[in-house]
Amino acid sequence: MTTNPKYIFVTGGVSSSLGKGIIAASLAKLLQAQGYRATIQKLDPYINIDPGTLNPYEHGECYVTDDGAETDLDLGHYERFLNVPTSQANNVTTGRIYQSVIDKERRGEFLGKTVQVIPHITDEIKRRIQILGNSGDYDIVITEIGGTVGDIESLPYIEAVRQLEWDLGEHNTCVIHLTLVPFLSAAGELKTKPTQHSVKTLMESGVQADILVCRTEHPLSDGIKTKLARFCNVKKEAVIESIDASTIYDVPNLMLEEGLDKVVLNQLQLKNDVPDLKRWNAFLKRHKNPKSEVTIGLIGKYVELQDSYKSILESFIHAGAENEVKVNVEPIHSEYLSESNIEFKLGHLDGVLVAPGFGERGIEGKIDAVRFVREQNIPFLGICLGMQMAVIEYARNVLNLKEANSVEMDEQTPDPVINLMESQKGIVNKGGTMRLGTWDCNLEKDSTAYKVYNAETITERHRHRFEFNNDYKAQFEASGMKATGFNPDTGLVEIVEIPKNDWFVGVQYHPEYKSTVKNPHPLFVAFVAAALKYNKKKKK
Ligand code: GLN
Repeated sequence: MTTNPKYIFVTGGVSSSLGKGIIAASLAKLLQAQGYRATIQKLDPYINIDPGTLNPYEHGECYVTDDGAETDLDLGHYERFLNVPTSQANNVTTGRIYQSVIDKERRGEFLGKTVQVIPHITDEIKRRIQILGNSGDYDIVITEIGGTVGDIESLPYIEAVRQLEWDLGEHNTCVIHLTLVPFLSAAGELKTKPTQHSVKTLMESGVQADILVCRTEHPLSDGIKTKLARFCNVKKEAVIESIDASTIYDVPNLMLEEGLDKVVLNQLQLKNDVPDLKRWNAFLKRHKNPKSEVTIGLIGKYVELQDSYKSILESFIHAGAENEVKVNVEPIHSEYLSESNIEFKLGHLDGVLVAPGFGERGIEGKIDAVRFVREQNIPFLGICLGMQMAVIEYARNVLNLKEANSVEMDEQTPDPVINLMESQKGIVNKGGTMRLGTWDCNLEKDSTAYKVYNAETITERHRHRFEFNNDYKAQFEASGMKATGFNPDTGLVEIVEIPKNDWFVGVQYHPEYKSTVKNPHPLFVAFVAAALKYNKKKKK
């Protein structure tokens, strides 16, 4: 639609965790709904090459793209809002920037120059920002800069933004500064000073915010907006209120009411129309008007942190809306589950999801949980480690292989029903070395999976090192656990099911990464439907 791509930068001030990702995704949604091809990129100022090696307690879920990049969870929001896949180019860290520059230096490509933050690091940042724009696939690239202005590690990024504004010229860039306008209850007032200071900090680096998006718990009065505009040097219509919302999916509409898309498009001298949010609003309507309710247990070891299983929680929202059901997700810590309390903790549930994960902590509780739901015929979905736990449980309690295990947990197990993948043997580096990204999977006819997907071949995203051990396949199948999905080239088991149960599915891949508002994931949709059926049966 446009000749040159336009660039929007989103910086953060005053505090972290203000939701830059949601604001960026909501703006992109509004622009997309006006016909613009928009994408979002996240620049993270930490030194890890990617978040793949980060503990979920530190950084929340690691989101995996089709091309196998291990990325920040904000990319999940971008995909869920836009329904457009992201890639490695959508998430860049300081570690990756430095790695490219240092590799180049080792190859002698700087021709004897002294390699410095300015210009070499900032040039590399600018190059990374423009990769998506130069691809020709997008009219607008939104770049979210992680961290808060004033942080030492953000400085090269802000400098790169300053230079790009200068390089690209007027009306080709726009800077949105997301800030907090706190309410001081003692004074009974909203306070603008933190925002003024953070805009000033940005200006010290030569960047003037064009638009302020102000997070607030109370509406901003006209007077406050005028004050913010005057002291922060922005147009009054460019002071956008972002009030706390009950769901993140309300934010595009809230931004539309505040005119964020309009100010952005004016600044970029692009045509401004009314966004078509019909489909989005139809989803919201279903989400907010459920006809029934189910409770699903999410069994994991990071359950106290919402961010650790972000994509799973969002997938339940999409699948709930699709079924017009409110899905209450009950987080259950697997470390505190045992045979003695299992009935009490799981007995009331309409479905159980055993979560992905790594390492030994909490796995016995997951195995106990699978046993309970298998025996009680409660709908079950196991994802990645969750699928592996279902296999181990079946081996121990049905095949009577009492010491069956995954070699991840017990290298000496006599029955390694979950084994290290051949391709993983000999790998020592932890970062970026798992089986990652999209792989094909062929489905067996007559399986639940085949019914759910209504397809013979599917593609799903992966992140694992261990796999179902095919040496045991015949034994499992003879006693009622079937492998129903396979990688066509290697025979790797992607799906297991127990056909005797009403709904029992374990998947080696991560369906949660592909669920979006527009395309709720069929496996989650079917799982929620099975939970609803179970709930109704129970009530009878
Ligand atoms: N730890 C298991 C593996 O590496 C499962 C990984 C996961 O759940 N993402 O195979």
